[in-house]
Amino acid sequence: MDLIIRNARVRGQQEPVEIAIDQGRISAVGTSPEPTASQEIDAAGSLVLPGFINLHLHADKSLLGEVMRPNLSGTLPEAIEITNEFKRSYDPKEVAERAGRVIAAGVKNGTTFFRLFADVGTIGGLRAARGLLLAREHFAELCDIEVVSFPQEGIARDPGAAELMEEAIREGCNVVGGLPWYEYTDADAREHIDICFDIAKRHDLDIHMLVDDTDDANSRSLEYLALKTMREDFYGRVTASHCGAMAGYNDVYAAKVIDMVATAGITISVNAHINLVCSARLDREPRRRGIARVKELLARGVNVISSQDDVNDPYYPFGKPDQLEVASMMAHTAQLTLPHELEQVVDMVTVNAAQAARLADYGVAPGARADLVVVGAPSVHEALRQQPLRSHVIRNGREIVRTTVNQELQGF
Ligand SMILES: [Zn+2]
Repeated sequence: MDLIIRNARVRGQQEPVEIAIDQGRISAVGTSPEPTASQEIDAAGSLVLPGFINLHLHADKSLLGEVMRPNLSGTLPEAIEITNEFKRSYDPKEVAERAGRVIAAGVKNGTTFFRLFADVGTIGGLRAARGLLLAREHFAELCDIEVVSFPQEGIARDPGAAELMEEAIREGCNVVGGLPWYEYTDADAREHIDICFDIAKRHDLDIHMLVDDTDDANSRSLEYLALKTMREDFYGRVTASHCGAMAGYNDVYAAKVIDMVATAGITISVNAHINLVCSARLDREPRRRGIARVKELLARGVNVISSQDDVNDPYYPFGKPDQLEVASMMAHTAQLTLPHELEQVVDMVTVNAAQAARLADYGVAPGARADLVVVGAPSVHEALRQQPLRSHVIRNGREIVRTTVNQELQGF
């Protein structure tokens, strides 16, 4: 045995367990003491989760907040404008360095799988993608990274972007992105989605688009994405992020679209924290929250996840990045506070995200890959409440993060 984690708590089980790991995989999870191993970790009664998964992170833009002018309106269009100023002169090595600082911070917080969005278009060409591909190579031992070929300026709006998306895929990007709601007309949005499916089919890749990410309740890109997913037989291979317009859809239309999303097996990534900051900026009161109808999606059986999206960039000034913090934000925004709902928000940054990424060997169970995080709190509730530093992170059966902190009240 290579590694044993003792005195661990796992979800759905009362008694502490031992997790035995051999050759990068979990070989046993149980209450009977395992024999010794080359290395032992005492989880001290902490919850052990599979490594967090973040399926939506613009690592090419991350930390531009350190050098950018302020986003005075706080809106998405101004964020796009500010980013473009940098994008014109991106250097892949500089992109990789900024992305790397964020990836390293995410790994320390227990994230072992990232889906990074690389802006691909005529403004920045392939420079962002090349930067993120460099980062993927550099961090291969610490985490899995997918890189999305993402048309941030649109496809119809940015002639040449579709060709660059394919070029980025030939260079190593392995998910097809999309931004249909950003096109000028519904017809162009549909064409945008059609082009993304053509590319995905040609290269046999999954799709992750940013859809209906607008305060306009008449935005219709999610509806067409669901229809297209069914028609192209892409069930279970498509993720749609944001979908904030859903908050403004009328109830009858929302129910129809949610039903289509469920039927198509589309995952919805609700990145609550950024939409709280960026959406509904022009509202007086009451202000909309700008997030999808999470409880209605869950009730219909839709796979819902939540992702970090942005870390100190023109869109959002915060982000550690930490998927436990993201889960907590989600609990607040979607009002998921009952015990079973707290489990649901943790699912959104673990098992649901694994389903979206189609990871077959994910979890804390025999046979699963040993990518684990010793959270530092005994339960899901306490983990969300305390947001503790992660005690240990295990990757492929090897300890890659260990945290030691000593903080005491003095004089008591
Ligand atoms: Zn995004």
